[in-house]
Amino acid sequence: MTSIVQGACCLLGGVVVSLAIGAPPHALQRYESVGPHMGTLVRITLYAASEDAAKQAFRSAFDRIADLDRILSDYKPDSELNTVTRTAVQHPVDVSKDLSVVLAASQALAGATDGAFDVTQGPVIRLWRAARKTGRIPDPAALTEAESRSGFRKLHVDSRQQTVMVDQEGMALDVGAIGKGYAASEALAVLHEAGIRSALVAVSGDLAFGDAPPGQRGWRIDLHDDDPALASVPRVIELTNAAVSTSGASEQHVDAGGRRYSHIIDPASGMGLVNDIAVTVIAPHGLDADGLDTAVSVLGKDRGLALIESRPDVAALIVQRSNGTTTATMSSRFSTLIGGASPATPRASSRPGGW
Ligand code: AMP
Ligand code: MG
Repeated sequence: MTSIVQGACCLLGGVVVSLAIGAPPHALQRYESVGPHMGTLVRITLYAASEDAAKQAFRSAFDRIADLDRILSDYKPDSELNTVTRTAVQHPVDVSKDLSVVLAASQALAGATDGAFDVTQGPVIRLWRAARKTGRIPDPAALTEAESRSGFRKLHVDSRQQTVMVDQEGMALDVGAIGKGYAASEALAVLHEAGIRSALVAVSGDLAFGDAPPGQRGWRIDLHDDDPALASVPRVIELTNAAVSTSGASEQHVDAGGRRYSHIIDPASGMGLVNDIAVTVIAPHGLDADGLDTAVSVLGKDRGLALIESRPDVAALIVQRSNGTTTATMSSRFSTLIGGASPATPRASSRPGGW
């Protein structure tokens, strides 16, 4: 066995690269690089034949993620997302392929969930973001006004023409529930094109990975931190060629009046979720895994599970906590996966974002 030394061996645009030492020449070695992107940390682990190949691959993958951030960010005033929302009022505007793909998938998921998943909730989401800073839940009148500028039926995406149109001024789109998973899988695709077959891209909690690390069955994905209430669920699962996203309703929250309100909002009420739910979704592409983890959080266990079961290529674990009791619900494909029949996720039988 070669020894892998993790550490600050060299800098690549502010990014630390870990190098393998004592390896025979040309053997695949493990490299890791971390960089700040999309308001979070992106970690890429890959196996390459040389340090040069690894550096080049890191650069291309991080460039792709930076490009996507410029397109999809709702924080950057001049992102393509924000620009289009300002300019495409009542007339279609040409958009990039990436924006068209993400918004079309979002709208398809909005349709499949009766608007439980809704990227036009930007005005409402912004009020809840402010609430997390002030510690006070949004004023009802402000929520009503924000809701009047939201609603997925006011967004029109034409994938064929690659155009977007919004119905009214003052709308705000927020793809925070789906963009990171998309970016993880897209960065993985760039690595694939560079000849790197075995890699894992983690955009915060949104993971996308390819072939197994050399000599291993798969990438080891943590499902929980040894929670005794989840004894029926393995702590770690080994997978290849898939994406995994986890959404936690209580991850970011505001506590008020004895209740904990999540950063995920229910568009039906404009309120942050109060059910303590954590959803892990496994899918061929991060666009699906990320979109669905949020959608299932809003729909809740029963309707969420039905949505997951309607997709032949998706698996989910839903963990709910209430009154000190934790319940874990697994979709049928999740049970099969942890049965250990194969470390690979069922292959895609439909295109990403095709609900
Ligand atoms: P995730 O961590 O993938 O569940 O995404 C959470 C983020 O999605 C939030 O921080 C909001 O930016 C956005 N969001 C919140 N509620 C919704 C919703 N009902 N539909 C779509 N996006 C949402
Ligand atoms: Mg999500």
